[in-house]
Amino acid sequence: MFPRADFSKGDVIEYYRDIAPVMMPYLKDRPLTLKRYPDGVDGDYFYEKNAPAYTPEWIETFAVERTDTKRGGKSIRYILINDLATLLWCANLADLEIHTFLAKAPRVDRPSWIMLDLDPGPPADILQCAEVALLIRDTLERLSLSCYCKVSGSKGIQVYVPFNTSITFDQTRPFAQAIARLLEQQHPNLIVSKMTKFIRGGKVYIDWAQNDEHKTTVAPYSLRAKHPEPFVAAPCSWNELSKALKKGDAELLYYSPGDALKRAKKEDPLMPILKQRQKLPLEYQNMLKPPKPVKGVKGNDLLAYGKKRDFSRTSEPTPKKAKLRTRDLIFVIQKHDASRLHYDLRLEMEGVLRSWAVPKGLSPEAGVRRLAMHVEDHPLDYGTFEGTIPKGNYGAGTVMLWDFGSYEAVGSDPVKGYYDGKLHVRFNGKKIKGEWVLVRTKDPKQWFVIKIAPSAKPISKKKDNESASSGRSMGKIAAEKDSVWKGNGVEHS
Ligand code: MN
Repeated sequence: MFPRADFSKGDVIEYYRDIAPVMMPYLKDRPLTLKRYPDGVDGDYFYEKNAPAYTPEWIETFAVERTDTKRGGKSIRYILINDLATLLWCANLADLEIHTFLAKAPRVDRPSWIMLDLDPGPPADILQCAEVALLIRDTLERLSLSCYCKVSGSKGIQVYVPFNTSITFDQTRPFAQAIARLLEQQHPNLIVSKMTKFIRGGKVYIDWAQNDEHKTTVAPYSLRAKHPEPFVAAPCSWNELSKALKKGDAELLYYSPGDALKRAKKEDPLMPILKQRQKLPLEYQNMLKPPKPVKGVKGNDLLAYGKKRDFSRTSEPTPKKAKLRTRDLIFVIQKHDASRLHYDLRLEMEGVLRSWAVPKGLSPEAGVRRLAMHVEDHPLDYGTFEGTIPKGNYGAGTVMLWDFGSYEAVGSDPVKGYYDGKLHVRFNGKKIKGEWVLVRTKDPKQWFVIKIAPSAKPISKKKDNESASSGRSMGKIAAEKDSVWKGNGVEHS
């Protein structure tokens, strides 16, 4: 397998047999990718995720749904190494390297730890990685988080922050990114946090993006096939890192299978990652929580909308929440000739259209505020509604699609701005473009919508009486007595 080091397939199998007692706990229940070298390290290799067809029945597997398009939603049946026989079966397939999930089956959405993969861009090497690993340790220490490390056996170092809780990748991934960015800011000559910058070389890339459901990392004690001689992805202590750094000796951080076995007998500095339970800093956890609804301010809720309407008698859209999407958020302003003429401003948020009735409409003039009464959330489909609501129904009268388009929240997340009662938005509509701010008063129903400088072009009388969708006037819509709404092409949950 490693001809230049005289390390045979028998040696590979023997190594895995002997290291098994310390290695197995790191493999248990973790779906894995085989990296097979049928002709040894000098030949071609391939990755194998799906258990091969000839996999014996006694080998445990776990099917993981793949929603990504590549596999067309098919699942992958991953191998789990839960006993010595399976480990040796894999070794016998010339699976020199064993790469496992950060999470255990069946909850593959819950990582046991955060893993920061330190990858040196030449001429930087493992010693620069050691320097960065120690910086990460110091930073995490200030957040009361312990971390541990192993050398990759290739050219870098991997730092582990154990959790062993129900934490999800949605929480660990942004945290890992934040740590990487922070360190990049503090040490711009040593660290990069973006793959694209990595090519500049001489720096260490903190790869935080590995903290993802379908990513695998080389397992502790796995052999590596990156060099002519076999090195091990071996746990190592902070002291060992400091020592190698002091001596400037990169070789101190490469371990042969023999070294790895000897070291493992003495102690395993990585072991705490198997059990230690930790929590993300409280401030950070709070940031990830959805904002708390303010008293009197409802969270996304179409109940009120549904209760007010009889859908056998009005052709307005029925209440359906939409899935959250990543495309631009939409806004719509409907001119509504109900008991009193007003303009309904609606902003997409949390899968609904958050709504305000603005009696005088939005002012184009900077600094001018207009009353905006907060009303019930509307379904997303309402964003394309134009027509007549029959007499005797809630909101009876003519509805014109006065303007629509996309909007973005300026300076903060729209949902946060909404709950905070100060929502600064930029509209990109057919008629209106520019920035307004919505401010909640002490009465949670009562808001003001204020134009932010500069003033916008005033809307002409003619434009004001013209649908942005059909071009019809209020009179024409009323006369035609139709009701048009087409789904937004929006998926409903
Ligand atoms: Mn209305």
